[in-house]
Amino acid sequence: MRFCVRCGKDVEEVIDGLCTECFLDGRKLLSLPHHVDLQMCTNCGEFRIRNAWVPVSRPQAAEDVAIEHLSAIREAEVLEVAAEAEELDENNYLVHVRALLEVSDVTLDAEDETVVRVKNTVCKRCSRYLGNYYESIIQIRTRRKDLPPRLRREVLGRIDGQVAAQAKNNRNIFISKIEDVPGGVDVYLSSIQLGKAIAKVLSDAYSAESKEAFKLVGQTRDGQDMFRITYLVRLPDFHVGDIVRYAGGLHLLSRIFASGGRITALADFRDRNLKHTEMEGLEVVLGADELIDAVVVSRSETEIQILHPTTYETIDLVVPAGTPAAETAKVANIDGTILFVPERM
Ligand SMILES: [Zn+2]
Ligand SMILES: [Zn+2]
Repeated sequence: MRFCVRCGKDVEEVIDGLCTECFLDGRKLLSLPHHVDLQMCTNCGEFRIRNAWVPVSRPQAAEDVAIEHLSAIREAEVLEVAAEAEELDENNYLVHVRALLEVSDVTLDAEDETVVRVKNTVCKRCSRYLGNYYESIIQIRTRRKDLPPRLRREVLGRIDGQVAAQAKNNRNIFISKIEDVPGGVDVYLSSIQLGKAIAKVLSDAYSAESKEAFKLVGQTRDGQDMFRITYLVRLPDFHVGDIVRYAGGLHLLSRIFASGGRITALADFRDRNLKHTEMEGLEVVLGADELIDAVVVSRSETEIQILHPTTYETIDLVVPAGTPAAETAKVANIDGTILFVPERM
C-alpha cells in the first residue's frame, strides 16, 4: 500500500506520488493547438488528413484534422473521441473535441477546441495532372498508314476502362494527354505500371505486337535514374469475326486470346488454335461488318436453304451440326460465292 503525498490517502497505485484524484485535479488532459491549418486541393477538392488526400465534406475534414492534432497527457488512454465542427465562415471552423479517457483506474471526459483554417493548395496528383506529367506513352498504330476512327474509339474506350478501374484504388493514376499523330494516337499516362498494364491488355485483346523503349529523363532527388517508357502497340488488320485467309483456306477468326487465337475453317467448320506468331500470317478477306444476314427458307440437321442476298435465288449451304434454328443466317459473299459463317465459339 502506498499513500498520496498531497492528501495522504492510502492507495494501491500512485502517479508521480499522487493518488488519481490529486493527479487529475486541475490538470489539462487534452490539448489542441490554438489553430490547425487544413490543406484543401483547389483542383480536386480533397483534403489532406494524416498524410493522405481524402474526399470528404468541409466540416468532416475540419473535424478529422482537429482530431489528428489532438494530444492527451501520456498517462491517459484515449477510449473514444468525437468532434463537432461549427462554421465560423466558409474557411474557418471552430471544432470542439470531446474524448473519453482512462487514467489509472478512473474514466473521465475531457474536451478542448481549436480553430481549423481551410488553406487552398494543389495536391501532388493534381499538380502533376495540370502539368501534363507523364511516365509512359502508349503509341497506338496499325500496320497501315492510318488508324480508322472506329478502331481509335474502341481502343481509347478500352484504355479509359483500364484507367478508371486502376484509379479506383490509386488516385495517382490518370491519362495526361491524348494526342493524334500521323498514323495513330499517342496516349500519355501518369505511371509506368499503368503503361505496361495497358500495353498488355491491348496486346492480348487484339493479338497486337507490343514493343517498349526506355528513355532516361533524369534522376530523382535520391539519385535514382528516372525513365520514361514508350510502348508501341501495333494493331493487326484482323478483328474477331473477320473472314481471314490462312494457309490458303478461308476461316472465321473466332477468338483472340493472350497467347494467340482460334480460327474456324469455312469449308468443314474445324477449329484450329494459332500461336501469337502464327496470327501474323492472317490475311483479312472480309471484315466482320461486311458479313450478310441471309433469309433462311428451310433447314435440315446439316443443311439450310437460303435466299441469295443479291439474286434471291435459293442456295443450299452445309451447316455444322447443332447450329440453332434461326430466321436468318450469317453468310460471307466472297467474289460471288456464298459461304455459311458459323457462330463464334
Ligand atoms: Zn491525493
Ligand atoms: Zn487535387
